[in-house]
Amino acid sequence: MGISKVLFLVFCLFQLHSCQFFSSKEESSSNTDTSVQPIEASYLQFDENLAYNYIDKQVSFGPRVPSTVGHKACAEWILTTLKEMTDTAYIQEFESITYDSKKHKGKNIIAKLNSKNPTRILLCAHWDTRPIADHDPKNPTGPILGANDAGSGVGVILALLQNFKEKPITLGIDIVFFDLEDYGQPENSGLTPMENSWCLGSQYWAKNTKHEFLPRWGILLDMVGGKDATFLKEETSMNYASNLVNRVWSHGQKLGFEKHFRGESSSVIDDHVYINKLAGIPTIDIIHYKLNNGGFADYWHTHDDNMSSVDKSTLKAVGKTLLNTIYEEDKYMQ
Ligand SMILES: [Zn+2]
Repeated sequence: MGISKVLFLVFCLFQLHSCQFFSSKEESSSNTDTSVQPIEASYLQFDENLAYNYIDKQVSFGPRVPSTVGHKACAEWILTTLKEMTDTAYIQEFESITYDSKKHKGKNIIAKLNSKNPTRILLCAHWDTRPIADHDPKNPTGPILGANDAGSGVGVILALLQNFKEKPITLGIDIVFFDLEDYGQPENSGLTPMENSWCLGSQYWAKNTKHEFLPRWGILLDMVGGKDATFLKEETSMNYASNLVNRVWSHGQKLGFEKHFRGESSSVIDDHVYINKLAGIPTIDIIHYKLNNGGFADYWHTHDDNMSSVDKSTLKAVGKTLLNTIYEEDKYMQ
């Protein structure tokens, strides 16, 4: 995950014109309603152990920093896994120059389930890990493992595919794992603030992807595995897809996960901002943000973002809530 919007606004003081990008408030006509349909309990059996193992597997490659061996190996594993579980899976390659003037070949990893169904949704997460632990007090220059910040979103989405195999679904599902989300300019670098240095993979995808059938809405997962994670109603998500936010949060709360799905607000820059603005898909972000404007978790962008930061009960809460939302869409809203 990138930076909080508070920091972005500081950037904007230097470059006022750039704020326009984030200033408009739109409510998409394709937002879904907030009705809650009962879904049989057998459809909501999310395997948090499988999600955990998928995270552990990603971490086993080491940091997944673009242009490194671990990044390449993990991309191959994700692609192979997606090919086994979906109709089609491929890598969208793109070239990017990061804030430090380095050139990288990015890899967005894309898959489609029920690719012929024009009624589709989008599930997405970033899979790259931050090249520097710039919030780590001891070793701020080394790369992070990103168990929660990268691994968790991918792990939950891959685990959901097992559900869709066991309890078949007809809804079309687009899956995108974005690269180069987390290579943004450090907020404490002292460099001239640079806008749009985060979320490079989603920016590329949103600008360059041709959709045969545009997903009606999307859900972005980022840092969804932390112990006692609190998911707040995020500002851009509410601006573009408030009905979907309220629907997902309502499911989460009714399933008993009200300690995670909270009514308070947050505001972050993440891949969903570009999906909303540039791809026109109303998309929400489920992301751990501490209460009382407390920012991200203490281990965010440190070397403590390892497997010990991942809690299976949080993975289960997110997985079950998504299953309820997605099977509801499949059964009642196509
Ligand atoms: Zn991050």
